[in-house]
Amino acid sequence: GEAHPPVSGTPAAELGKPAPSDNFKVVVVTGGGRGIGKAIAMAFAAKGDKVVILDRDETELCETEKALGDRCLSLKVDMADEQAVIDAFAAIKTLHGRIDVLINNAAIADRFMPVEEQDSAYLMGLLDINLTGAFLASREALRFMTKPGGVILNIGSINTFLPFAPRHAYGASKAGIDMLTRCLAAELGPDGIRLATIAPGYIRTPGVAALEASGSIDSGKIRRRIPMGELGKPEDIADAAIFLTSDDASYINGAILYVDGGWTAFG
Ligand code: NDP
Repeated sequence: GEAHPPVSGTPAAELGKPAPSDNFKVVVVTGGGRGIGKAIAMAFAAKGDKVVILDRDETELCETEKALGDRCLSLKVDMADEQAVIDAFAAIKTLHGRIDVLINNAAIADRFMPVEEQDSAYLMGLLDINLTGAFLASREALRFMTKPGGVILNIGSINTFLPFAPRHAYGASKAGIDMLTRCLAAELGPDGIRLATIAPGYIRTPGVAALEASGSIDSGKIRRRIPMGELGKPEDIADAAIFLTSDDASYINGAILYVDGGWTAFG
């Protein structure tokens, strides 16, 4: 039936072998200018990979580039702008010729509006970034992703497991991300391209600091609900990203990995 992945494609024995002739990966991180995306970019660069960051904030990008030295290229791109995304991936193709890993990380939080007060322009803008942006980046990356061996890693959220009021827009966008992971896992598995979602719990990032400053979240309350008693660090997500995109994870496809200090395990 249609729910099952097709059985034709690359023989299993050929899947997961290191395809690149060079001993580094070409890694694209959307929203890599700060927070979780930046930690992921730095973790790959630290092990010698070539990182391309797509982000819309120039100032933060400059800081990131300085930290990463010549292993990082950053491009100013709004992930909701289809032509900008197409152009960015064309530039990456010219520079590197291939993509081994795509991390769809760029996203915005919603405004914690009761649904009756939700504004359609804001809602559509959020979906354009959080969901459509990941679709567009995946489409463009797949045109020259390493096959077999490429990996698309989507950053989801525990919100798809634990619905929080009033985060309906963000939660719905991240539920879409989870299903994008699972559907593309089925679609691209035969080509030897893997998918995974990391679902972070609350992680100390500039984005979360802004939510705290505006009173939208209270990290004291949050801490009490996390079995490990503390918010996570961006590096906790980067460590999971390095594992999930490595050959050590070569049989993990379509999985959602919660990195949340046990929050979802205990609800
Ligand atoms: P931050 O807001 O700290 O950083 C997100 C980065 O993405 C920023 O540099 C931001 O740029 C960029 N970005 C946003 N929109 C766009 C766009 N349209 N085009 C290009 N870049 C864009 O977020 P976090 O690091 O906290 O979150 C990263 C990911 O992790 C997101 O997918 C988030 O939903 C997810 N997540 C985070 C959690 C947390 O607790 N931190 C919990 C669960 C999930 P700019 O500064 O211009 O906005």
